[in-house]
Amino acid sequence: MNVAFHDPLAAYRELQAEIDDAVARVLGSGRYVGGGEVEAFEAAFADHCGAGHCIGVANGFDALHLGLRALGIGAGDEVIVAANSFAATVLAVRAVGACPVFVEPSEATFNLDPERAEAAIGPRTRAILPTHLYGQPADLQPLLALARRHGLALVEDAAQAHGARYRGRPIGAHGDLVAWSFYPTKNLGAMGDGGAVTTNDPTVAAAVRTLGQYGIERDRSAASLGVNSRLDPLQAAILAVKLPHIEAWNLRRRRIADLYCEGIGDTEVALPHAPAWADPAWHLYVVRTVERDVLRRWLADRDIATDVHYPVPPHLQPAFVQPDIGRGAFPVAERLAAEVLSLPIGPHLGDDAVGAVIDAVRAWDRARRDAAPRAGAG
Ligand SMILES: *Cc1c(COP(=O)(O)O)cnc(C)c1O
Repeated sequence: MNVAFHDPLAAYRELQAEIDDAVARVLGSGRYVGGGEVEAFEAAFADHCGAGHCIGVANGFDALHLGLRALGIGAGDEVIVAANSFAATVLAVRAVGACPVFVEPSEATFNLDPERAEAAIGPRTRAILPTHLYGQPADLQPLLALARRHGLALVEDAAQAHGARYRGRPIGAHGDLVAWSFYPTKNLGAMGDGGAVTTNDPTVAAAVRTLGQYGIERDRSAASLGVNSRLDPLQAAILAVKLPHIEAWNLRRRRIADLYCEGIGDTEVALPHAPAWADPAWHLYVVRTVERDVLRRWLADRDIATDVHYPVPPHLQPAFVQPDIGRGAFPVAERLAAEVLSLPIGPHLGDDAVGAVIDAVRAWDRARRDAAPRAGAG
């Protein structure tokens, strides 16, 4: 059978009548920017993640970059990020004029390592920016303590973590500011671009809102160098339809993670590990093997789509080249980039598809074991 990696159309099929109604309502409202649809979704999403404020923006990148600006981070400042995060996290730091300082991730959780983060703090450090990578919450308690001890902001990239919990509390307001993306394939996805910032700090919330509206506060004059970054009411209305389903969808993702654990836990492939305090959103199911590219091809030959998140760590991407930081500078991040493989997971992935993935990985594992003694003898 053909197993797709993402299937955003399935969510539309599940909720088609409600989504079509919501879209028709917006079209018939005559209000095509801002308004009640956006306000209603902002309130619902703030409530969902236990945050005092939610500000819709145009995309996840803007959530990060306007969030950093709202916290006063800019030229000459340093922001600590995991050396294996997505390019957008790093680009947002650069977009405000700050310098990203890469820190090796924990090999067990793929997330920013609090001890290594502490060692990276210097006189110019202004913020720590963990990504809840693959939907696994970063270890926020020690990161928050670290931020408080050194007077730094804690900014969370939660673009992959809708519905995840840390020590029982939803991701959404543990740190000073949380950035979200509603890109169509995220756990909560729009049908186009969308993003949001959540925070408990009313001053930060107001600053993000102003920056996303040209920096204009009152009397139509720009108080700061803002941009135009707004959550579209069509997307807000669609997201409001989807939001009540995220818990059930994430439960299905967790079920698939459990099936993978039962099905391929005894193979050569290393499975993701969730610490006891983590309730992951299972945005991605990322396994590891030194033979990643061989396994990927094996699965592709059997019509199983996989992906790699991410094949090149930021410090080796041309846009982020820094003097004296080349290959070998972050061995853990580089090893992960060479070994990680994302298997299909999603709220609408059926048991038959999951079974096909498990069978294919097991067959690869058997073939590999059978070949090993001969390779050794030869
Ligand atoms: C998707 C994503 C972003 C960017 O979100 P967009 O809405 O595409 O701008 C940022 N960080 C991470 C970790 C992401 O996965």
